Amino acid sequence: MNDFNVSEAGYYGEFGGAYIPEILYSNVENLKNVYLKILNDPEFQREFHALLRDYVGRPSPLYWAKRMSEKYACRIYLKREDLNHTGSHKINNAIGQILLAQRMGKTRIIAETGAGQHGVATATVCALMNMECVVYMGKTDVERQKLNVRKMNMLGAKVVPVTSGNMTLKDATNEAIRDWCCNPSNTYYVIGSTVGPHPYPDMVARIQSVISKEIKQQLAEKEGRDYPDYLIACVGGGSNAAGTIYEYLNDTKVKIILAEAAGKGVDSGESAATIRLGTVGIIHGAKTLLMQTEDGQIQEPYSISAGLDYPGIGPMHANLAKTGRSEVLAIDDREALKAAFELTRLEGIIPALESAHALGVFDKKQFKPDDIIVLCISGRGDKDMETYIR
Ligand SMILES: *Cc1c(COP(=O)(O)O)cnc(C)c1O
Repeated sequence: MNDFNVSEAGYYGEFGGAYIPEILYSNVENLKNVYLKILNDPEFQREFHALLRDYVGRPSPLYWAKRMSEKYACRIYLKREDLNHTGSHKINNAIGQILLAQRMGKTRIIAETGAGQHGVATATVCALMNMECVVYMGKTDVERQKLNVRKMNMLGAKVVPVTSGNMTLKDATNEAIRDWCCNPSNTYYVIGSTVGPHPYPDMVARIQSVISKEIKQQLAEKEGRDYPDYLIACVGGGSNAAGTIYEYLNDTKVKIILAEAAGKGVDSGESAATIRLGTVGIIHGAKTLLMQTEDGQIQEPYSISAGLDYPGIGPMHANLAKTGRSEVLAIDDREALKAAFELTRLEGIIPALESAHALGVFDKKQFKPDDIIVLCISGRGDKDMETYIR
């Protein structure tokens, strides 16, 4: 069957697993025992897809980028997750997990957020479902991302500034885990990417796989075949990439190119190129590649794009890279900015800075004229306008 999917024990090759404190064991075990049953339940599927259609606005279009295709002499399609409600692919995951939490009888939702995108998506679905919502966010990020904090407040969520460590995403995640330990029975922890202990990476990948299910159908209509030659996506924790490639994981004629953030350069000491620079360790409950010092201290990542500066990588992607199923390119700040301005001028689409890293691949790889390429535009650029202006 599928070598690249998760094993019964929660591993992708040597990566994954559930390395969690004793007090969370029964919670994570319970989630592991019910998630597949719930996700595959026809009533769950009906409600999930109705919300994706009427609330999120799916299917997201698969757009043939004519001028970009001319410029790079190949056939480029853009999967438009930027057109979703709240502006990125994160809402797919938030809807899937809130429906799951309801079915597990949970009444209180917690989440961590870095730039605030996952926090806003979670606060949005909590408003929709009338659930209590607490979002942990590093104090540095609270100050940097005021607009998203305001949105979460307006949606009725409580945003808790975290003042430990560097006061960024890693510290917010630790705090969310601490909260979950104190409130294991009524609280559900919505994780925003394909990270964390098993079953989260697999669960988030399955929920986001709606992206590749749609690509199959849309390509069949537009090209007469349901697969591309290449799939391209950016990786932070890896959820938009997992969604984009999920249905093609076993189909090795479809090549996978992933873009991670090189920040100021892979060897500059200021980067988030986790797959290139990471070594095996445990972060947020999973064994994976992470940026750490020789004595195992997590190194603070850096990228111009807040959504990509996570010091780890989802275990699925650590395995895909290690086995050679994916090719991972490191795109730096400058290359991503150039690609963002280029897409804006060629196609009239202002992408999120994260998605711009995926677009940066076109300057590094040569494609053939009949190559069909599908690239995931994971989000829109509204949140990044201040950076673009500077
Ligand atoms: C959060 C975010 C990402 C990175 O997260 P993944 O889990 O790697 O997809 C990418 N793009 C956008 C627009 C985001 O908001």
